[in-house]
Amino acid sequence: MSSLAATQKREAALLLPLYDRYALKIVRGNGVHVWDEKGRRYLDFLSGIGVNALGYNHPAVRRTIAQMSARGLIHLSNLFYTDYQAALAERLTKLSGLDRAFFCNSGTEAWEAALKFARAYAQTKADNREPKWRVLAMEDAFHGRTFGSVACTWNEKYRKPFVPLLPGVEFVKFNDVADLAAKLDDTVCAVGLEAVQGEGGIRPVTKEFIQAARALTKKHGALLICDEIQAGLGRTGRMFAYQHFGVAPDMVTVAKPLAGGLPLGAVLATNDVSSVLHPGMHGTTFGGGPLACAVALTVLDVIKKDKLVARNEQLGRYFRGELEGLKKKHRAVAAVRVLGLMAALELDNADLAKSVAKQMLDRGIIINRTHETALRMLPPFLIGRQHIDAVVAALDSILSAEMKGKQSQPASKRSTR
Ligand code: PLP
Repeated sequence: MSSLAATQKREAALLLPLYDRYALKIVRGNGVHVWDEKGRRYLDFLSGIGVNALGYNHPAVRRTIAQMSARGLIHLSNLFYTDYQAALAERLTKLSGLDRAFFCNSGTEAWEAALKFARAYAQTKADNREPKWRVLAMEDAFHGRTFGSVACTWNEKYRKPFVPLLPGVEFVKFNDVADLAAKLDDTVCAVGLEAVQGEGGIRPVTKEFIQAARALTKKHGALLICDEIQAGLGRTGRMFAYQHFGVAPDMVTVAKPLAGGLPLGAVLATNDVSSVLHPGMHGTTFGGGPLACAVALTVLDVIKKDKLVARNEQLGRYFRGELEGLKKKHRAVAAVRVLGLMAALELDNADLAKSVAKQMLDRGIIINRTHETALRMLPPFLIGRQHIDAVVAALDSILSAEMKGKQSQPASKRSTR
């Protein structure tokens, strides 16, 4: 096996320069931990950015992969029937309250498909007195990197190099009902939002806003699309994050944790949306393959059998309490936002957040920084309180040392907070 330095050198020469990786080479994983090439163990509080909900090397996931591999059913294309898509659709529709599913390979593909379905719905159903193709997305939203999804993604750094993007997308101030009402009229075909913004810094929607979005979209014949790619499938202590707020969307997108680490995304939609679609309008070669769908069924089985959704809610309450304790103790903590196992500790400056994330890694704990100042934690559903305690103790110690360092600096060098 090559060393970290050798791998870094090879990648620098051979890969398109699109990732800024941690200086860490992971060689194996088990449970809530991964190991680097020197045998050092890391507690993973990011779980592959929300993908590895069942951690690493889960026996049930391993078993299903082995069974499907032995059966020779890894890929088949969407030209044939298998048992798995309908079975998975049945589970996801029951859990979400929607009627039907379309399977694809990733989050951005799911969002892209949902946008296309919304445009098709508007074309078919609208009375066509005026064009109906505007899409309202939220400030601070993240929906992916393909052209439609990135057009709905707020941070300009993701959009600017690639203009012109999908036309017709406008941004609404998140949780600002007046701004939504001002922008939403009969020319809008869809309003899209994350019930808890992930890349945006773990920011939950307000009940008032999402309920207003539901009412206004109904009034203007637009669809409400909830992006549950990061927050969905149990992470927030509900199967879907919108279920905290008593709304029923027209479409829901899921991906990340769905297939235990294999690429799989889905759009869940109502029968009404489905009524405008027909064979050939949209599709994918890989999406919904038998291996990925079989593993997804296993993931949902484990989540149900081990009652992980309720457990996530309880653990989240404990996590919130502990992080609130840090806020009371450290002036640098600006805010705490936790819903289930989606947590952010917002610090009062970006450099500090960067430094704390790096120091956590030095201490063997993986978290990340998002939205400049938010330390984001998306641990696997398998963690216990002892893991939360370890993370909070490390954050406490790092923040204390940072404060001491600041105080021992001459006043002229202290950053103003
Ligand atoms: N939507 C949300 C809310 C996400 O968090 C992400 C990824 O972080 C995406 C969409 C895009 O998913 P993918 O990276 O699988 O394309």
